[in-house]
Amino acid sequence: MEKRELIYEGKAKKLFTTDDANLLISEFKDDLTAFNGEKKSSEAGKGALNNKISTELFKLLAEDGIPTHFVKMLDDNHMLHKRTDVILIEVIVRNIATGSLSKNLGIKDGTVLPFTLVEFDYKNDALGDPKLNDQHALILGLVKYQDELDKLRRMAREINDILKPYFAAKGLNLVDFKLEFGKDSSGNIILIDEISPDNCRFWDMQSGEKMDKDRFRQGLGGLKMAYEEVLNRILSK
Ligand code: 5GP
Repeated sequence: MEKRELIYEGKAKKLFTTDDANLLISEFKDDLTAFNGEKKSSEAGKGALNNKISTELFKLLAEDGIPTHFVKMLDDNHMLHKRTDVILIEVIVRNIATGSLSKNLGIKDGTVLPFTLVEFDYKNDALGDPKLNDQHALILGLVKYQDELDKLRRMAREINDILKPYFAAKGLNLVDFKLEFGKDSSGNIILIDEISPDNCRFWDMQSGEKMDKDRFRQGLGGLKMAYEEVLNRILSK
């Protein structure tokens, strides 16, 4: 399967058509951005690490019954996946308070939440990805029906129920993560995008060390080593 036309370039990936109208290729870039594109850099090999990590996690989720867009990894930087109509909602799942939750609501960084929190952000760079409630999402027409929002929440919790113990067994706390969903050619809601240290927070259970994009956001250095460590732990049985 070969790349044809570039149809979209995002901050971390380029999207290409293929000779099959139902399939697209994502190219994982080495670019790093934070704070809605205000901070920029690049780290050679970051794209390949995210492609490999996402591939393993999409396979794991598919085995556990979560429908995803993943078809196969083509090479280090390329993933073949289904084409979907993207739902412009970022579904944020949180087990531990940090980041914008601590900032916005004053919950102490590192507080274990009494239950898993699922939030919606509007996927809209121009507006800075603002928080959405269900009525906002329906008024904006991001989905048609309330039960689609309920389904996004249900799927996000199911994904957390799979990934949280999976990473705990590998000595990593899954602190929070961002998911995206789309509708496939039959109208089914499936998981899309990527699952990687670019959109998940992982804290080492022993040292508390951050093993994700916060290393870049907070200028801590050692980003590539952290991503490699996440991949190595995923690949270790
Ligand atoms: P926060 O809202 O605390 O900044 O982020 C919560 C979680 O969602 C973090 O794991 C973060 O990586 C992820 N996340 C939220 N918004 C975005 C986004 O626009 N892009 C990416 N890559 N991740 C995001």
